[in-house]
Amino acid sequence: MFPKNPLEYKGRQFCCKCGKTHSFNADIILGKNILPKEFSKDTLIICDSNTLKCAGNIKGEKFVIGKSVESAKINFVRHIIDNMPKDIITLAALGSGTICDITRYAAHLSQKHFVALATAPSMDGYLSVVSPIVFENYVKRSMPSKAPKKAYCDIDILSAAPMRLILAGLGDILGKFTSLIDWKIANLVEDCYYCPEIAELVKYAVELCYQNSQGLKDRDNKSIMALIDALLLCGIAMNMAGFSRPASGAEHTLAHYFEIEVLKNKAYGYHGEFVGIGMLIYARLLNMFFEKKPNMLSKKFEKLMDSWYSIKDEVTSLNDRLEQIESAMKDVGCKTKPSEIGIDKKALIKALLTVRPSMPKYTSITLLRDFGKEKELINKYIEKYL
Ligand SMILES: [Zn+2]
Ligand SMILES: [Zn+2]
Repeated sequence: MFPKNPLEYKGRQFCCKCGKTHSFNADIILGKNILPKEFSKDTLIICDSNTLKCAGNIKGEKFVIGKSVESAKINFVRHIIDNMPKDIITLAALGSGTICDITRYAAHLSQKHFVALATAPSMDGYLSVVSPIVFENYVKRSMPSKAPKKAYCDIDILSAAPMRLILAGLGDILGKFTSLIDWKIANLVEDCYYCPEIAELVKYAVELCYQNSQGLKDRDNKSIMALIDALLLCGIAMNMAGFSRPASGAEHTLAHYFEIEVLKNKAYGYHGEFVGIGMLIYARLLNMFFEKKPNMLSKKFEKLMDSWYSIKDEVTSLNDRLEQIESAMKDVGCKTKPSEIGIDKKALIKALLTVRPSMPKYTSITLLRDFGKEKELINKYIEKYL
């Protein structure tokens, strides 16, 4: 039902079989050389020293928040709000994940418009309406934020991004393999909203990106475009669903845990790298969980038990492809092992046993815990795969 082209959504309404009418209002500007040459005086461009280089000759007020900003700390948000000129109407984020999260939340708190100027195809959050923000004492929370009015995606800039960021984008997309299963499980266990059409759209995006992924290492145009389209379509999917579940499950919860470990100097890497690794872990844990149908714990799990074999089918068909997906990730240069992000066996066990979502969200993590299978399956996983 939904268009495959992310540019065909703006201002349209989709009467869906899920019972909702989906709409999407952000203006996506995608193409070559599409960045405005000049921004008016009432726009403040937020960047760091790295992303400032992508601004080229863009004229306008710029606000450099740091040298290389790698974490969306609340202090950066406060710094922008406290120091922006009085007559600013729009905050434009020149950057990728972190700069966008900081700027989007600052725009929300100060009631300004938010515009994204994408510098890397490294994550699917350009169209997001939430910002994961790090507060004091390493507390990370998803804060409601301003939807972008416009998102500029310049193909030349995105293609020229550092290879690690491009591969992080691939990892973020491959994470949808598990987030889609988690969304369905959440629907069955907690009756959370689910739209099969939006799930199909995300499935289309992940396959498009995966099938074209091998060209990414040569920055092949078709592969880069498939990645950009997939990232935008996942952003649109989350926007239309009204929450992040179609594109964010247990693999993202684990990624957010690793992101906090980075702040403590106990891990290193980018969001999408963590997501890709998390997907491989939870796909295997889910597969082990679905090997044997457990007894029903309570009425809450009735629908899951009724749909057990259809979910099991999805889990096993992902597992049948997992080695192939993993070797495709390795071939293109993605990280696939926790040790590659500084997480050893002991740290991984601790992570898997203690990880919690920053807001209530039913995922494979909760499922394993609810059925008391967590320790047993994590040990089995460690023995078999590490
Ligand atoms: Zn729907
Ligand atoms: Zn992500």
